[in-house]
Amino acid sequence: MTEVIHILGAGLSGLAAATILARSGKEVHVHEIREDSGARFDGDFQGIENWTSDLDFFEELREWGFDVDEFKSDSFGIIDLIHPDDEISHPKTEGVAFRVVERGTEAHTIDQGFKRMALESGVNIHYKVKKPTEDCRIVAAGPRESSAVAFGEIFETSHKNLVAFQLNDKLAPGAYSYMIIIDGVGLICTCLWRKQRKSGRYLNETIAWYEENYELDRKPIKRVGGKGDFGLPSKYVHDGRYYVGEAGGLQDFMWGFGMRYAITSGVLAAKAILGECEYEKEVRRRLVPLVKASAINRFLMNRVGNRGFKMVANQWMRDQKRKGDGLKFMQWLYKPGILRRSLWPLVRIGMLRKKELPDGRIVHRMPFRGSLKRDLWEQSPRANEIGEQWKSKQREGGNLSFADSDA
Ligand SMILES: Cc1cc2nc3c(=O)[nH]c(=O)nc-3n(C[C@H](O)[C@H](O)[C@H](O)COP(=O)(O)OP(=O)(O)OC[C@H]3O[C@@H](n4cnc5c(N)ncnc54)[C@H](O)[C@@H]3O)c2cc1C
Repeated sequence: MTEVIHILGAGLSGLAAATILARSGKEVHVHEIREDSGARFDGDFQGIENWTSDLDFFEELREWGFDVDEFKSDSFGIIDLIHPDDEISHPKTEGVAFRVVERGTEAHTIDQGFKRMALESGVNIHYKVKKPTEDCRIVAAGPRESSAVAFGEIFETSHKNLVAFQLNDKLAPGAYSYMIIIDGVGLICTCLWRKQRKSGRYLNETIAWYEENYELDRKPIKRVGGKGDFGLPSKYVHDGRYYVGEAGGLQDFMWGFGMRYAITSGVLAAKAILGECEYEKEVRRRLVPLVKASAINRFLMNRVGNRGFKMVANQWMRDQKRKGDGLKFMQWLYKPGILRRSLWPLVRIGMLRKKELPDGRIVHRMPFRGSLKRDLWEQSPRANEIGEQWKSKQREGGNLSFADSDA
């Protein structure tokens, strides 16, 4: 008799796992609470990193049998790195540093690409349904709680394609903001790693900054956002269930680049069910060291402000000058070297809090940090105007997928 496998969540990790299992002859049912795959995001750009392994991620996807032409992607080897004092420098590499994909429900998004591959492989996807976690072999339901939020605006622009990454503790408390422009559509996003009462304020000020420094000719379309849940569970297989992607805490604590870990863990869970590997062992070998290295970096970032961020930006550029390749610095950041590893006990005690989840799993998670005195400042007149502009756009029907102070 054909084995029936139920998966909770039709995001990237769930669909990747489902496709591999269905291709091996299993009867696979994916249960998704939302109306479609990608509905959690709808329209924002995200970057798939290419620095946590020597193997190009698209090569890896092809080896696993995924067709990377099923969704649109744009490769980048250079970015504008915006230092906290507004200096702009250019980390670059000859190869592909990352690829920008769109998330959401439109045909060219990565979510819909993975959905098509799953359906073509014979996977049954059930949307708008609730399924008890206990009935599922793979749990791929994404984040549960908030450790950080990202809040962005999508707009039309005449500016050429570009990715800008800004380290700035004022505009993005504890973190970074970014601007991605692909084929006439832009996204400006600010990430808040300290909980704020009005996140829209930070986005307005961030947009004002980018408008002043780039010729954007910006026409707002919609505002988007989402949360990230950062924590390390004590087990990745619990009561016979495989926890993949963000549901398994497989997320990058430093910059939030979780897509690669999500897809990789989905593939590993499927292979484990097919008897080709041991999930717990493989995740601990391949992904947990990266997650831990990112958590250690996050711990250090939480301790510094703009002075520390400036040192990081300068170090990145010095490293590029020495080695002739800007990607080497990113590769080094995620390497769990001896020095970084020695900080782990401190990070565990100082940054993570032990919690028992309803399913009995123990997780050491990073709580959403409180705001600091320095997070309170007067909005600039231009940021106020941008806020008003958004309010009038909303009155005309502008879509907000993530409420201003959602957390
Ligand atoms: C604003 C933002 C920007 C980001 N930018 C980047 C980036 O640039 N690069 C990058 O690599 N990563 C980025 N990430 C992280 C990345 O999106 C996630 O790590 C990745 O999508 C995780 O995949 P997943 O399969 O674990 O979860 P998801 O893709 O979120 O899929 C989980 C699915 O499960 C569904 N679900 C939830 N609960 C239930 C339930 N009870 N029953 C059934 N279904 C359920 C959800 O609706 C969803 O469809 C970003 C995240 C956010 C929020």
